Amino acid sequence: MFKQTQQHAGGVTEGTASEPAARMLLATAVRRGYTVEATPAGGALITWTRHLFGATDGAVVLATRSISLEPFTPVGALSGPTRDDLALIGGDRHAHYAEEDGRRVIAGPMWRIPAFATARLRARTLVVEDGDRVRLSLTARLGLLAQTHRTRTTEPEGFRRPSAGDPYGSAGLNRPGGRAGMLRDGSSWAVCSCGQLNGALGGTRDEARRLTREHRRAMTAQFVTEHLAPPTRATA
Ligand SMILES: [Zn+2]
Repeated sequence: MFKQTQQHAGGVTEGTASEPAARMLLATAVRRGYTVEATPAGGALITWTRHLFGATDGAVVLATRSISLEPFTPVGALSGPTRDDLALIGGDRHAHYAEEDGRRVIAGPMWRIPAFATARLRARTLVVEDGDRVRLSLTARLGLLAQTHRTRTTEPEGFRRPSAGDPYGSAGLNRPGGRAGMLRDGSSWAVCSCGQLNGALGGTRDEARRLTREHRRAMTAQFVTEHLAPPTRATA
């Protein structure tokens, strides 16, 4: 279950969304080209812009709208072993509950997750029962996605000496404090823990932050398109 908060013209509406409702909402948002970003807690933020006509002069006004989905049970930090367990469950259509010494375990044809770890995954609502099988909850999948794409930007270097091939030559401003001939370098690298952003350089740190944001949103849109849209039923 998610807490759903919607910002609209009349103010803010709060409600709840079941997992199927949240899937539908995300799929529709991506199909309409809205911006969707998964959160590390296992929720998502949907934003879009409305073109409104001004009440008096008819001028076009842009208004930002948003819907946030926050899981009732946040995913929290995912340790290596927990990620491994989630990968096993997520990668196997035959994951199911079995009994071992009177305790419940999650098992596949070739593997089983010990009872204590199974109990923890259940308590954190990282897994849900879907008919005969056990699968990852939407919260777990969104949290995994966001935690796979941890982004950062590097501190701009500041002043630097122009290199020999620099088109600006030694045109740097004549500043006091030994900065004569130095150029201001405000560029910043956008970096993601997935490694895909390597080599993305922003002219300013704000630009680098925009690159990281775009990357996280692109990854979320891809996930939604590949796994949530159109809403699928588990096939036997
Ligand atoms: Zn990434």
